[in-house]
Amino acid sequence: MLPDDFLDRFHQLCPDAQKDTALASFAEPKSVSFRVNQLQAEPEPVVAALVDQGVDPEPVVWAQDQDIAAFTCGPEQREALTHSAEAESGDIYIQSLSSMLAPALLTPASDDWVLDLAAAPGGKTILLAEMMGNQGQISAVEPVRNRFFRLKSNLERCGVDNTRVYMKDGRAVGRLKPESFDRVLLDAPCSSESRFRADDPGSTFHWNLRKVKECARKQQRLILSAFDALKPGGTLCYCTCSYSPEENEQVVSHLLKKRDAALLPTELPIDNCSPGITQWQDKSLPEELAHTRRVWPTADMDGFYLALIAKAA
Ligand code: SAM
Repeated sequence: MLPDDFLDRFHQLCPDAQKDTALASFAEPKSVSFRVNQLQAEPEPVVAALVDQGVDPEPVVWAQDQDIAAFTCGPEQREALTHSAEAESGDIYIQSLSSMLAPALLTPASDDWVLDLAAAPGGKTILLAEMMGNQGQISAVEPVRNRFFRLKSNLERCGVDNTRVYMKDGRAVGRLKPESFDRVLLDAPCSSESRFRADDPGSTFHWNLRKVKECARKQQRLILSAFDALKPGGTLCYCTCSYSPEENEQVVSHLLKKRDAALLPTELPIDNCSPGITQWQDKSLPEELAHTRRVWPTADMDGFYLALIAKAA
């Protein structure tokens, strides 16, 4: 069972065209997705080795079109995949498809200086490093000690060597490194509503509206720090795996109020998405928020929110 408050808000937010699929996805087993880590492996032999182990990967066309070697498998193959030699060696990385959208949207160049402001366990950092051909430089920030060490070991296992890791509070980075980065990713700590499962009370146990507002306060400070760390002419991708407007459009709206930031159109290569909202309860939000995107969950994909933001040159 999902919390009534959550369901009530979800019904208000999710467009009718997406609703049946989205609601069903909270109850149905999800497929499992992974990427071949092209920093150290070629997709063809890796997929062949997995097929030999009884795994049946289906290529994800929109991702492959962007040179991301992404595949999905049936939910019953999760165990085999998780315990495969390929996962252990870092030749594959198990990652939700929606998580792959953020690096794909940020499109770092190979000589960029990139900041990943909330980085552990590192799935998006590893994809950014792959897109940069292990060139340029990534600074990956994670303040929570055990998660910091998990990030570090994931980067090492996956052959990432253009990244320095920092155990720091992301809220301080904009002040410590102002106007320093060409690209910033803020995959903000959030209420994780997209991980809710109807058959797992543990997935919703800590959720309530007070917690959503607490996350929003931290996100508002993080997004200002992320923006301050951007060079003029740079681009910031803000994302969460929450549906709550307080953690999404209202955080971006806070940035628009406090800084000279401009929203860029967020073009996604998928159909299960809709524009960001411009009205929530009794509050009107800036019209430009329609440039941001809400990703709705399906049997293959988790929910997500993405905004692409520019700092004037
Ligand atoms: N980007 C990661 C990935 O793709 O693997 C997932 C990031 S997760 C959504 C958010 C992370 O933000 C968590 O690891 C959390 O510990 C971290 N976090 C929490 N408070 C933070 C803060 N003040 N500054 C930076 N990161 C923070």
